Amino acid sequence: MIEIKNVTKKYGKKKALDNVSFDVNDGEIFAFIGHNGAGKTTLIKAIMGIHDFDEGDIIINGKSIRDKGIECKKEMAFVPDNPELYENMTAIGFINFICDMYEVNIDERKKNIDKYAKMFEMKNNLNEPISSFSHGMKQKVAIIAALSHNPKILIMDEPFVGLDPKAVFDIKEVMHEMVKEGKTIFFSTHILDVAEKLCTRVAIIKKGKIVKVGTMKEIKGDKSLEKVFLELEG
Ligand code: ATP
Repeated sequence: MIEIKNVTKKYGKKKALDNVSFDVNDGEIFAFIGHNGAGKTTLIKAIMGIHDFDEGDIIINGKSIRDKGIECKKEMAFVPDNPELYENMTAIGFINFICDMYEVNIDERKKNIDKYAKMFEMKNNLNEPISSFSHGMKQKVAIIAALSHNPKILIMDEPFVGLDPKAVFDIKEVMHEMVKEGKTIFFSTHILDVAEKLCTRVAIIKKGKIVKVGTMKEIKGDKSLEKVFLELEG
């Protein structure tokens, strides 16, 4: 579970996040939507402990990301919007590096890497250098690395951008599989029809403030999510 409590983050005088509060529960696929520059990546990076924030707190499965950063990070995996991986490593070298960081034992890592490399059609590319990969292939390496340590919480920033249709289908299947096991999924997206079909809950952020949060049904009623979003944005 992720509890976001009154989080404010400023860049200079500008508030990128303004008193943001909501929870993401276990067993939930949660969409985070908002215009360009609304504050999505800023909040995601704060949750992941990648950057600090000025006020409030973020609690990951009962622990504060401020006080227990490493323990919180052990429970989470992150797939960034722009997969900036170590270009001079091979895909398998990078994935093993992540598994080492998360102390994944040999049997578990073999099983997970095999499963997800097959699923994302990267098995034949594992020994190639990341520098030789397309954007989508790098995205797939980031996803396989994230899943290889069996995280309790999966956080993704724009996960569908740059992926081929089969990979989009597969990542959605993985999400369903993970929530069946009671895990937590939180991702930002601009693809509202996918969010509408996939997610149980949603938060909408506008200029750093949460303007709506609730179940998909509560937020959209009989309308489409796109229509509700565009109405809110005026
Ligand atoms: P997008 O959909 O375009 O990815 P976003 O919702 O993820 O947008 P953020 O990247 O969180 O938006 O940016 C929120 C606000 O914070 C924007 O006004 C942006 O200009 C500002 N911002 C983000 N990073 C920095 C930074 N490093 N320095 C100064 N301002 C920043």
